[in-house]
Amino acid sequence: MINSKEITTIIWNVEYCTPPAILRYCKKCGKKREYVCSGEFRINAQQKVLDVWLIYKCVQCNTTWNSSIYSRVSPQSLGVDLLERFHNNDAFLALQYAMNISILHKNGVEIKMPAYNIIGEDTSLENSVIIKIKSQYILPLKISSVLRTKLNLSRREFENLVSNNKIQSITDQNLKKGKLLSSETIILISNT
Ligand SMILES: [Zn+2]
Repeated sequence: MINSKEITTIIWNVEYCTPPAILRYCKKCGKKREYVCSGEFRINAQQKVLDVWLIYKCVQCNTTWNSSIYSRVSPQSLGVDLLERFHNNDAFLALQYAMNISILHKNGVEIKMPAYNIIGEDTSLENSVIIKIKSQYILPLKISSVLRTKLNLSRREFENLVSNNKIQSITDQNLKKGKLLSSETIILISNT
C-alpha cells in the first residue's frame, strides 16, 4: 500500500478551446455538418409562457438550429435578472449552456468534442506522483486521452502501464475506457 501523503500531488486543468460543436444534417448543404454555438439566445413569448433557445449555426452556410433551453415556462419562474441576460445575449451565460452536455443530449444531437489544452506541470513515469485532473466543465473527454497526451504515451504503452498498475485511478474509474465525468479525477502514477 502506498502512503499517498508522501507523494507529490500535481494538478492538471483541462481547458476547452471552444464549446462542443454539434453534428446534424443541414438541409441547405444537403449533408451532415458541424454547427457551432452563435452565443445568441432566441426568446419566444406566447400568451403567458416563454421558450428560450440557444442558437447554433452551420459552419458552412450559417443555417441556424435552435437548442431548446426552456420550454413553456412562466417568465416569473425565470426571474427578471435571468430574462435580462437572455435578452442581452450574456456571453458567460451562453457559454454555460453551450458547455452543458445534458442540454444537448435532451435536444437529441450528436456532439463533436472540442480541442483542449491541459495546463499543469509535466511529470515522468520515473516519479511516483498523484495527478488531479480538473475541469470546470464536464464534457465526455476520455481520461486515457488526457493521460496519453500529457505523458506522451502510445495506446499500447498506456494500456500496459494500466494493466501493470503503474497508472491507477484513485477515484475508481476505468482508465482505459472511462471519461472525465466529474470535476476532479485522481490518478496515481507509481514507480514501484
Ligand atoms: Zn449548411
